[in-house]
Amino acid sequence: MEGPGQVTQHVTGIDDLPIRDELKGKSPYGAPQLDVPVRLNTNENPYPLPEPLVQRIAERVAEAARSLNRYPDRDAVELRTELARYLTRTAKHQVGVENVWAANGSNEVIQQLLQTFGGPGRTAIGFEPSYSMHGLISRGTGTGWISGPRNDDFTIDVEAATKAIAEHAPDVTFITSPNNPTGTAVEAETVLALYEAAQAAKPSLVVVDEAYIEFSHGDSLLPLIAGRPNLVVSRTMSKAFGAAGLRLGYLAAHPAVVDAVQLVRLPYHLSAVTQATALAALEHTDTLLAYVEQLKQERDRLVGELRALGYEVTPSDANFVQFGRFEGEGGAHAVWQQILDRGVLVRDNGVPGWLRVTAGTPEENDAFLDAVRDLKKEHSA
Ligand SMILES: *Cc1c(COP(=O)(O)O)cnc(C)c1O
Repeated sequence: MEGPGQVTQHVTGIDDLPIRDELKGKSPYGAPQLDVPVRLNTNENPYPLPEPLVQRIAERVAEAARSLNRYPDRDAVELRTELARYLTRTAKHQVGVENVWAANGSNEVIQQLLQTFGGPGRTAIGFEPSYSMHGLISRGTGTGWISGPRNDDFTIDVEAATKAIAEHAPDVTFITSPNNPTGTAVEAETVLALYEAAQAAKPSLVVVDEAYIEFSHGDSLLPLIAGRPNLVVSRTMSKAFGAAGLRLGYLAAHPAVVDAVQLVRLPYHLSAVTQATALAALEHTDTLLAYVEQLKQERDRLVGELRALGYEVTPSDANFVQFGRFEGEGGAHAVWQQILDRGVLVRDNGVPGWLRVTAGTPEENDAFLDAVRDLKKEHSA
């Protein structure tokens, strides 16, 4: 029965709802979560957390549980202090609690930055192919997205990039180093050239996304924040720390940036359970970084063996490898399916001609290499 003034509305999908125009017809982020024996598609760390750390997490979470009737430390001071200590120790640059901010994954850090420095009437630029979430979170925050160029070898074309920045005068510039999905590290000189170009156009934020820096052959770009208040480095515990399920990301920048994001963060955004878990993980940094060393060796092995099989491989400073090229019928997606048919899930990021494989355990990588060797045989038969 319909009461007076009520209208029946037939909703068959989200586009029938009164959602924002810029969201109409769009797809959500969605790497396939398929139940396959070997999953090398989302750049996770293949090693579960070591048992002593699991025990320590249980202890610290139990401790936190005793005061879950209270809101958590809104400013996550203890956690930010430990993150600052980790950065100072590993990135050859001294930072303190006032330089560091943490949130639920670096995706939330990026969202807070875009809510603060982007938004309606403002724009952000990234150099693609790169991390698709920079564009998606821009859209979600009403920030216009500008797709900047890259060279054919996936390095940043400094001349074209500075020209694009001068032309568009973006409010936020994203530089991902090492880049996802290509694995390409960015030189400090390139970051400095882009930062100068961005500030010349107008004062604006430059975000260096270092989600994979622990896997790099080179150093962190963190020291560049000194004397550059509009430069932010973002980090995550999802990859090197093997804690994608934890959802803990952080940034390092001038203290004023840390103050600025407080304007948009939700009160008590970082739960007491999350803070306790992250603190426990940071107590075990050395063990976790030892896994990173193994993964770097496996990454280099994948590069070498794929090249020996005749594939093109983009040099990688991350925990994954971009390989190709697949120009035949069906392109990269057909090959993605053929590898999946052999029980191995890799990633088709939509970069024409290329696929991406995450470095897994030696056994997982062998399974992947067997699958692609098998393909080669089939194609040359
Ligand atoms: C995986 C990844 C992140 C991490 O996101 P979290 O929200 O911290 O899990 C950030 N940036 C890039 C480039 C990534 O690939």
